[in-house]
Amino acid sequence: MDQTLKLFSLRGRRALITGSGRGIGLALARGLAGAGASIVINDRNEQKAADVAARLCEEGHDAGFAVFDVTDREQVVSAIERVERDAGAIDILINNAGIQRRAPLESFDEGDWSELLRVNLDGVFQVSQAVARHMLARGRGKIINIGSVQSELARPGIAPYAATKGAIRMLTKGMCAEWARHGIQANAIAPGYFETDLNRALVDDPAFSEWLCKRTPAGRWGRVEELCGAAVFLASAASDFVNGQTLFVDGGLTSVV
Ligand code: NDP
Repeated sequence: MDQTLKLFSLRGRRALITGSGRGIGLALARGLAGAGASIVINDRNEQKAADVAARLCEEGHDAGFAVFDVTDREQVVSAIERVERDAGAIDILINNAGIQRRAPLESFDEGDWSELLRVNLDGVFQVSQAVARHMLARGRGKIINIGSVQSELARPGIAPYAATKGAIRMLTKGMCAEWARHGIQANAIAPGYFETDLNRALVDDPAFSEWLCKRTPAGRWGRVEELCGAAVFLASAASDFVNGQTLFVDGGLTSVV
């Protein structure tokens, strides 16, 4: 293989992707597998995680699974220990699991606020801390946090979600500040608008779709596979001196008013 292309190869690397039973997480799992990585699928439901991993194996990839809820510290720590012991080192972590809740800020339900923070922010802290301890001991590792265009831009109805995604951008920089000198690269991918279950309410709203296509320089929704190039880059040796960055994959949305 060409020396430059080799930089992007993930052969011999193991990647854990949280919330990879569907949506963007599953697409990223496939994308990394396509670059040669062994995959650890994560889902809260054991049967679903096993089925998805089996499907990737049928497609010719190497995949196993780990069952945990990113908000449950005990589950996270014991699942990470089990993967490290039984499958081997986690070289790449993608913190993808996330949720959305929509309501006007003045009437936003307090329980929904807490749930958003627990999944989108506490979850990233819990899983990163459990995995980074092993990466720090080895002196290398790649962490990719999934932010959003809401890491940079607010929108009515999703202020709490935007608060969590803004925090992800800073947590990514914090990981860089503390872990870069120990051989860990922590970066974020900030997707624009992609058709998944999380965005079902928007996908099903023709007025929103029309607005979005006008607002996005590329003139369309993103396809989940279009996030894989950025993920492979940030997971591979090609990005060994890239740290603390947020890479927007948004068809140009955050570059224009
Ligand atoms: P989906 O709703 O399609 O998938 C979310 C995934 O996260 C599911 O697999 C879900 O599992 C999992 N998950 C949710 N809560 C937990 C938890 N507590 N523990 C473990 N897993 C959990 O969303 P997307 O694929 O669209 O979103 C993935 C990420 O991308 C999120 O962080 C989101 O904020 C971000 N994003 C998405 C954009 C988009 O346009 N779609 C744009 C910008 C960012 P389960 O099936 O059990 O619910």
